[in-house]
Amino acid sequence: MRAATGEVAAVLCLLALAAALDFGYHHAEELEAYLREVHAAHPALTHLHSIGRSVEGRDLWVLVLGRFPTQHKIGIPEFKYVANMHGDETVGREILLHLIDYLVTSYGRDPNITKLLNNTRIHIMPTMNPDGFEATKVPHCYYSRGRYNKNGEDLNRNFPDAFENNNVTIQPETRAVMNWIKNETFVLSANLHGGALVASYTFDNGNSVTGSSKGYSRSPDDDVFIHLAKTYSFNHASMYKGTGCDSRQTFPDGITNGYSWYQLEGGMQDYNYVWGQCFEITLELSCCKYPPADQLEKFWMDNKVALVEYIKQVHLGVKGQVTDRNGNPIPNAIVEAQGRSHVCPYRTNAHGEYFLLLLPGKYVINATVPGFKSMLKTVEIPDNTANFNALKQDFSFSEVSIRTRPASCPKVPLYQELERSSAAVKPTLHLLVLMAAVILLFR
Ligand SMILES: [Zn+2]
Repeated sequence: MRAATGEVAAVLCLLALAAALDFGYHHAEELEAYLREVHAAHPALTHLHSIGRSVEGRDLWVLVLGRFPTQHKIGIPEFKYVANMHGDETVGREILLHLIDYLVTSYGRDPNITKLLNNTRIHIMPTMNPDGFEATKVPHCYYSRGRYNKNGEDLNRNFPDAFENNNVTIQPETRAVMNWIKNETFVLSANLHGGALVASYTFDNGNSVTGSSKGYSRSPDDDVFIHLAKTYSFNHASMYKGTGCDSRQTFPDGITNGYSWYQLEGGMQDYNYVWGQCFEITLELSCCKYPPADQLEKFWMDNKVALVEYIKQVHLGVKGQVTDRNGNPIPNAIVEAQGRSHVCPYRTNAHGEYFLLLLPGKYVINATVPGFKSMLKTVEIPDNTANFNALKQDFSFSEVSIRTRPASCPKVPLYQELERSSAAVKPTLHLLVLMAAVILLFR
C-alpha cells in the first residue's frame, strides 16, 4: 500500500513537472515541446498549428486557446499576440508562454479567465522570428544582428505600406503572417517588442491626409487606439509612469503615437489596421532587449494583468451579422461607423459578420451592400468588456438575395492616392479666377 502510494506520488510529481513552466529562455526545441505538452494536457481548450516556416525552416507556431479552439464561431471575436518578430527582443517570447500557462491552468477555476476563454478565441505566436532568436547567442541589452531574419531583413519593415511604396522582398515569415491575417477575422492584436517601455499605436507612417506634418499621424480610430494603449500601460506595473528607459525620452501615460515617436515604413501594426481590419498596437516591454533569464519572472509579474485586460478589449464596441432576405449571410458588405470610414473599407467576413471596436457612446452604423441602398442604424454602445460580449446589431437587407462579390484592397499605398486626389480636387486660385471670368462672360 505504502509502495503504491509512493508510485502515485511519483507519477503526480512527474505530471506536475511536465506542466510546470520554468522562468528561463526556451529555445526552438523546448518551445515546441512546451506547446505540444500544453496541447496534450488541454486538448479541448487548445489547438496547435504552424502557420508557415522561417527562412531556416523553423515552424512558426501558433497556439489557439478558447472554448472552440479549432475554428471560428459566429459572434466570437479573434484575438492575437505576436512576439519576438525582432529575434533579439526576447521578453515577449517568454511571457507569452507564461500567459498560456496561466490561461490553461485558470480555466474552470478563475471565473474571469473562464468567461474570457469561453467568449474569445485567442491566438498566441511566441516567436515570429525563430531564426533571429537562435542567432542571438547570449542575453545582451542592445541591438544585435538577431533582430533580422536569416536574410537580414527587418520583419517590422517588411509589410506593404499604406503611405509609400515599400520596395522590399516579402520574407517567408511576413508572408505567413499576411496569409494568417487574411484567413482569420482578427479584431484586436498586439505585437511584443523590447528596447523601450511604452505602448505605441498606429499610424507608424503618415502623410498630409493623416496630419503627419504636425508630428502625429492620426487614424480615424485614434480615440480607440489611445484607450487600447492606456489599457495596457495603466495595467502594467510601471509603464503608465511614462519614464521610459532614460531621461531623454519620456512618454506621458506610457503611450505614444508611432509616427510621433519615429516614422517607419512597412510596419506590422499599420498593415493590420489598414488591410487586416485588426486594431494592433506595439508593446515595448523591456529597456534591455534580451535581459538575463533571472529577470523573466519579474517581467511576467509586471505584465500579467495588462496582458489579460488588453485581450478583454476585443469585446469593445459593436458586432453583428449582415443577412439577405432569406437570412443568408452577406459577405463583403461594408460596415463602418459614420465619420470613421477606413481607407480600405471594413467588410463582413464569409459569415456576414462584422466587428467594430468603438468606445462607449452613440454612433450611426452604416451597412452597405454594393449596388444597394445603405442601411443606417443608431446604436448606443455601453462598455461591455466586463461581460465579454460586444453590443449586437444585425442588419437584414430585405431586397437583397445573396450575392458574393470578391472585394479586396490592392496592396498599394492607399493613403498616397488619397493625398493625390485631395490635392487634385482642391481648386487653385488661378482656377477660381478663371471660373469667375467665365461666369462673368456668360452672364
Ligand atoms: Zn522590436
